[in-house]
Amino acid sequence: MQLHCLRCRQRSPFDPLRFRCDCGGPLALRGAPAFDPGRVTPGDVTLWRYRHALPLPESAAPVTLGEGGTPLVELTWDGLPLRLKCEFLNPTGSFKDRGTAVLMTALAAAGVGAVVEDSSGNAGASLAAYAARAGIRATVYVPAHASPVKQAQIAAYGASVAAVPGPRIEAARAVLAAAEVGAAYASHVYHPLIHHGMKTIAFELWDVCTPDAVVVPAGHGTLLLGLAEGFEALRAAGCIAQVPRLFGVQAASCAPLVAAWARGAGTVEPVEEGATVAEGVRIAVPLRGPEVLAAVRESGGALVAVADEATLAAQRKLAHQGLYVEPTSAVALAALDHLRDRLGGTTVVVLTGSGFKSAALHGA
Ligand SMILES: [Zn+2]
Repeated sequence: MQLHCLRCRQRSPFDPLRFRCDCGGPLALRGAPAFDPGRVTPGDVTLWRYRHALPLPESAAPVTLGEGGTPLVELTWDGLPLRLKCEFLNPTGSFKDRGTAVLMTALAAAGVGAVVEDSSGNAGASLAAYAARAGIRATVYVPAHASPVKQAQIAAYGASVAAVPGPRIEAARAVLAAAEVGAAYASHVYHPLIHHGMKTIAFELWDVCTPDAVVVPAGHGTLLLGLAEGFEALRAAGCIAQVPRLFGVQAASCAPLVAAWARGAGTVEPVEEGATVAEGVRIAVPLRGPEVLAAVRESGGALVAVADEATLAAQRKLAHQGLYVEPTSAVALAALDHLRDRLGGTTVVVLTGSGFKSAALHGA
């Protein structure tokens, strides 16, 4: 397996401690094991069912809390039949657990004793839990504006919480400074292993019913890229004829991917980091912007933005049908009105994070 820099194209042997290229560019992992339907582990209901397709040493003991195997719930939304992939039912309440389990397994196998991460909450909570499980010390840098409930969750797992004032990018700067002086950066944004955890969502969907379209929230686009990678692996294995149409949804006040999409551009210009209730997608500079645009384009999908009022209305409407997710997850549902003409066949919406750790619903 090799690491390829997506900016300067430099190649290097795979090393789980390398989270980015010397030029600062993001890395992609090439040469991961192929998906093989004959090697799916029967009887395992977690994502480790697909271990054969994960780029991990054979001897690595999984760092697991039982992630994956999330329910697919049928629901009708304004007459549109949906299947909801309930990722908020992962061990720490978000889809991030898939990436964390795979990354922490690799880092633990490499003998890492301490990790750092920056996060608006879900990724930090996930890292803190899996670090605890692996017996590895964790420090999580969070924007001071992140949900207090999420910060408390990170601390509850025994991790150190470093609250950084200012926009989210300040927390990212602080963690990079820590990584510069030798900390192992278990980054949900940079680390190329994260996508390989996310791709197991595609495998699970295929196991039940391959969708024609998948709608997800998009900040950096990690989930969307993981899905693209997973479906491409399924296509290469002959399990599906084509990758489903992938739709990424952003918050209107902070939508750099949507702006690039509207321009028909192949690269993303940074935008001002506007406040939004969807704090998980409050990303002004998506690290893998060109890759997200390419993945969406190749799948025949689209990128759209929604206003906070629509997001909150969608969150409330879903809760009234028994499913309580955070606003960041609800952006995907809020976009369905805009996408109605482009959906068809089986549509899956990925519900990424639990409502239990976001601010209470008002006026519900
Ligand atoms: Zn590079």
